[in-house]
Amino acid sequence: MNKLILATHNEHKAEEFKQILPQFRVQTLADLNYDQEITETASDLEGNSLLKADTIFRQYGHIVISDDSGLEVKALNGAPGVYSARYAGEQKDDQKNTEKLIHELKGITNRNAQFRTVITLMSSNDTLQFEGIVEGAIVHEPKGDKGFGYDPVFIPNGYQKTFAELSSNEKNKISHRANAIEKLVAFIEKNPTFC
Ligand code: IMP
Repeated sequence: MNKLILATHNEHKAEEFKQILPQFRVQTLADLNYDQEITETASDLEGNSLLKADTIFRQYGHIVISDDSGLEVKALNGAPGVYSARYAGEQKDDQKNTEKLIHELKGITNRNAQFRTVITLMSSNDTLQFEGIVEGAIVHEPKGDKGFGYDPVFIPNGYQKTFAELSSNEKNKISHRANAIEKLVAFIEKNPTFC
């Protein structure tokens, strides 16, 4: 089974990747005992995703995938976007972030939003990026206790439940990451010598 290093400290994300990519042995930064924080200094998801892959590829020289994701809210001109994790401050507190979002959207009727992710695949052969999007709306009150981040305030289009109310199986069928990973897998299947 091919090994992929996943450049993340986020255990929730790692679980999602592992569940969607059963054909790979996904090793996380925790598995490698890599405990340094990779500072996200780029101004967009593409840049931060690349930065994470590049940092880990330089260190280990092994094929690596990374992702950078964010919630883009229409009425807030795409905010919190690339700053999603730090929306309410450097402490990266999920609950404070969602509270701030609900506050910013008070009285606003356009609740349209999307989760967007950019996955980077980096090997000595090449570097590629795959985008995944799931569209939906922001609720008025958080609901559900599954998932992480903004899951309790996001209802995907066509559903009546927030991501935090859906099972991980259901979320992983339609999420932005699932969408991007599908493209990644299609690429790897077409290019088996890449890995
Ligand atoms: P990063 O890609 O780790 O920088 O993620 C940025 C932030 O986006 C996370 O801290 C979450 O707040 C948010 N986010 C990314 N993906 C998801 C998701 O699937 N559900 C909820 N929030 C997410």
